[in-house]
Amino acid sequence: MVNTLSGRGQLIRLWLDQERACVVSQQRITAVTGWHVHHIVRRVDGGSNARANLVMVHVVCHQKIHSRGLTVTKPAPN
Ligand SMILES: [Zn+2]
Repeated sequence: MVNTLSGRGQLIRLWLDQERACVVSQQRITAVTGWHVHHIVRRVDGGSNARANLVMVHVVCHQKIHSRGLTVTKPAPN
């Protein structure tokens, strides 16, 4: 999953953009909880690997996005 971003710095910036929380459950994402990187616009629909198209979510929350067809949006930057 780390490989979907161009580097560890990008991953950390994505995490900080979200105030370290999952956009689905609003709970903290840590090295212990683990995470998936979700593409807001799917790669097959032309979505990019740019940070604007990515959100970090827990693995179980990622499964919910797809099993329930949830719509996720990126939190507005402060
Ligand atoms: Zn979550």
